[in-house]
Amino acid sequence: MSASASWIARDAAAVWHPFTQHADWTGDDPTVVARAEGPWLWDVDGRRYLDGVSSLWTTTLGHGHPGVNAAIADQLAKLDHATFLGASHTPGIELSETLIALAPKGDDPDLTKVFYAGDGSSAVEAALKIAYQYSTQTGHPRPKFVRLNHAYHGDTLGAVAVGGHDLFHQAYKPLLLETVGIESPGDRALGADRLTTAISHLRSVMHEHGDQVCAIIVEPMIQGAAGMLDYDAAFLREARTLAYTYGALLIFDEVATGIGRTGRMWAAEHAGVVPDLLTCGKGVTGGYLPLSAVLAAEHVYEAFLTRPGDSSPRTFFHGHTYTANPLCCAAALANLRVMGEQDVVARADRLGERLGKLLEPVAAKDAVTEVRRLGTMIGVEVAPDGHRTGFRVCRAARDRGVWLRPLGDTVVVMPPLTLGDDEADLLVEALDAAIDEVLG
Ligand SMILES: *Cc1c(COP(=O)(O)O)cnc(C)c1O
Repeated sequence: MSASASWIARDAAAVWHPFTQHADWTGDDPTVVARAEGPWLWDVDGRRYLDGVSSLWTTTLGHGHPGVNAAIADQLAKLDHATFLGASHTPGIELSETLIALAPKGDDPDLTKVFYAGDGSSAVEAALKIAYQYSTQTGHPRPKFVRLNHAYHGDTLGAVAVGGHDLFHQAYKPLLLETVGIESPGDRALGADRLTTAISHLRSVMHEHGDQVCAIIVEPMIQGAAGMLDYDAAFLREARTLAYTYGALLIFDEVATGIGRTGRMWAAEHAGVVPDLLTCGKGVTGGYLPLSAVLAAEHVYEAFLTRPGDSSPRTFFHGHTYTANPLCCAAALANLRVMGEQDVVARADRLGERLGKLLEPVAAKDAVTEVRRLGTMIGVEVAPDGHRTGFRVCRAARDRGVWLRPLGDTVVVMPPLTLGDDEADLLVEALDAAIDEVLG
C-alpha cells in the first residue's frame, strides 16, 4: 500500500472535510500533502505539484519563506498569545498602522481603523454588524443589505445571507437575514448589457428601499467563488455614489482580491473609490496563519463612541477569543514587509499579464468557453461534457505536476504572486494538455 493510500484510509475514517461530498472522497484519490516550499507541494509519496491555486488563494510569497518563518519564530519566543479584549500588544498595533498606511486612498474618506477577526467570513460578519449598528446610531435602524447575485462572502450565516451563490446558499434560505439581491455586472448570462443592467437594477433598488438599506456589499471588480466573474469598475463608482445618496455604507469584501492579488494592493484601486468598510483575509498573512480584518472609515468608528449626556452604550459588542493573535499579526507584518521590499504587487501585475498571454491559445480552444482574468485571479471556463468536467481537468493537470481546484466548470488559476517564468509555463502547459486530454 502506498503512503497516500494508507493516509487516505485513516483520513476517511476520522475527517469530515469542508465543501466535500464524502461519498466520492476516497474514490477521488485526494492529495495528502506532507510538505511545501516556494510554489511547490509534496505529497506523502514524495510526488511534487505546483500549487496552482495558492493553497486556496492565500499564498503570496510562496511556502516556507525564510523571512515569514523567522518572524513567526521570533514572535513565538516573545509572546504566543495575549487577549485584544481590554488589552493590546505590539504586533497588533504595528499591523494596524501598516494596514492603514497601505489602505486604498482617494477622494472619499480614508480608512483609519482596523478591527480584527479570524477568517474571511468572520470579517464579513463583523462588517455586517458594524453597518447595521451604524445605522441605528446615526439615524434609524436599516435592517436590509443589498448584495449581488452570484456573490460569495463566506459561510457563516450572516455571510451566507449576503451571498448569492445558489449551490452554496440555497439550503440555508429560511435562516437568513433580509437582503435585496441585484443583478451582477459580471453575470455573462445577462449578455453584453450586463453593466448597464446591474447599474439600473441597483438604482431602482436603492430608490425603492434606500432608507431601509444599511449597506451595499460587493466583491470589488471580480466575483471570485462565482467563477472569476470580472466586471467593469464603473459599477463600483455608481455603487459609491448611490451609497452616499441614500445614506448607506459601502462594503468592499477584499478577502480574495486584496493584498496584491489583482495586480494592485486592493481591487478598489482599479475603480478609484474607497469604501466605508473593507474586509481582508486570505493573503494577509501570506497564507501562513489565519487572520482577517475590517478596515473602517473614521466616521463609522466615531458613530460607536459614547456622547456626553447620552446613556446608550454604542460599543461594538463583538469579538473573538483569538482576535489579533500575535503570531498571526507577526506573519502578516512580515508578509507585507517582504511584499513591499520586493515590489510584489507590481510583480503580480506582470505575472498576471504573462499568464494572460500564455493562456491565449487555451482561450481559443473549442472546449474553452471563456478565460477571465484580473491580475492573478484567473478562471478558465471549460465547456461541460457531462460529469464534473472541471474536476476531471484538474485531475489531469495533477498527473502533469500541477495542483488545481475548480469552481464547477471553471478551472481556477491563482498561483503565488512571486511565481517564476518557468513555473508559469509549466502551469499553463499542464492545463492546456489536461483540457486536451479530457475534452480533446
Ligand atoms: C474566501 C472568501 C471569503 C471567506 O473567507 P474564509 O476565510 O473562507 O472564511 C469571504 N469573501 C470572499 C470574497 C472570499 O473569497
